[in-house]
Amino acid sequence: MERKPEKRFMDRAIELSKRASLIEKSGGVFGAVVVKDGEIIAEGYNQVVRHNDPTWHAEMQAIREACKKLGTPHLEGCVLYTSAECCPMCLATAYWAHIDHIFYGATTQDSLKYGDFQDVDILDELRKDPKDRRIKFQEFMRPEAVEIWKEFAAMPEHVHY
Ligand SMILES: [Zn+2]
Repeated sequence: MERKPEKRFMDRAIELSKRASLIEKSGGVFGAVVVKDGEIIAEGYNQVVRHNDPTWHAEMQAIREACKKLGTPHLEGCVLYTSAECCPMCLATAYWAHIDHIFYGATTQDSLKYGDFQDVDILDELRKDPKDRRIKFQEFMRPEAVEIWKEFAAMPEHVHY
């Protein structure tokens, strides 16, 4: 569905990016909000440094909070406003969460230029053949792992999402 961005939501995301980076110094220049039916239902800002948690990105926090609030892992009908273009982790999370639409402020190039954030490298890595990636990625003990999958598939009421 086509959505029109609203200034007040991006204003809040940008304010949160300031809180993270300039005021609380909890992490990088990143803030985000999740909007549903014209209202902010969850917020997040980067706290990677504060919590020593490489996954504590603004979008991750906002999506987690929104899911908790709505009591579902899926956010159909929700829009994500983020002060900067999503990194691959947050973009993937938005897909898992079934977010409808994302509006971003600064670009990945801006994050690289002003903050030396390496999202571009990760995107480059993802485009490579797995054997050429910096992190080696190899199959190991597949039959043993698949045993559990077989039991899972045979379970009458296994988890679906
Ligand atoms: Zn991210």
